[in-house]
Amino acid sequence: MVSNNLKTVRTQIELACKEYERAADSVELIAVSKTYDGDHIRPVLAAGQRVFGENRVQESEGKWPQLCAEYPDVELHLIGPLQSNKAAEAVALFDVIHTVDRDKIAKALAKEFKRQGKVCRLFVQVNTGAEEQKAGIAPSEAVAFVEHCRKTHLLEIEGLMCIPPFEENPGPHFALLSRLAQEAGLSNLSMGMSGDFETAIGFGATHIRVGSAIFGARQ
Ligand SMILES: *Cc1c(COP(=O)(O)O)cnc(C)c1O
Repeated sequence: MVSNNLKTVRTQIELACKEYERAADSVELIAVSKTYDGDHIRPVLAAGQRVFGENRVQESEGKWPQLCAEYPDVELHLIGPLQSNKAAEAVALFDVIHTVDRDKIAKALAKEFKRQGKVCRLFVQVNTGAEEQKAGIAPSEAVAFVEHCRKTHLLEIEGLMCIPPFEENPGPHFALLSRLAQEAGLSNLSMGMSGDFETAIGFGATHIRVGSAIFGARQ
């Protein structure tokens, strides 16, 4: 069932890449396994998927150390908001963090990289819809913030990430993120979820975050 879903999503990615004249390997699928336990995730691992996304550090600590022991080549992405008091745990467990959005987090991550002798790949989250309740740096501050992360904290930022407002056409948000990334000299774009990843691929997404289309609707 989930392995069929995975196959379907992979086919949809392939077709979208063809339609938008992109190389099939230019889009990384992040399977978002939040709320699902190890028994739900194992079939997706068995089907060959190795890149996964989670939105909570604590939930991830409860399932991924075991799964990573079974599949050492797993690559884990943190796609949910990060509190600075969880930076140590996040750096220890995750390979990539998509939600750097303020100085306090950048500073905490830089400190942990030094302390643990481990570096995570980083994306800066941009609040493209300027939604009050949503995490992310304001679009007007995004380019300067990327520079700040580089200059002040010596962090290497590899791309930008966004979650468009739920009720809006995502296209303009994807276009804005792409423009900001270009301005900041970044080539990676983390954008697109189950409902809009094909559109995101059209706007240049390099990392799509797909949960329910693979694992089924969450409770
Ligand atoms: C849950 C989540 C996703 C996946 O959402 P689906 O609609 O289930 O594909 C993607 N990105 C983030 C940041 C999420 O929290």
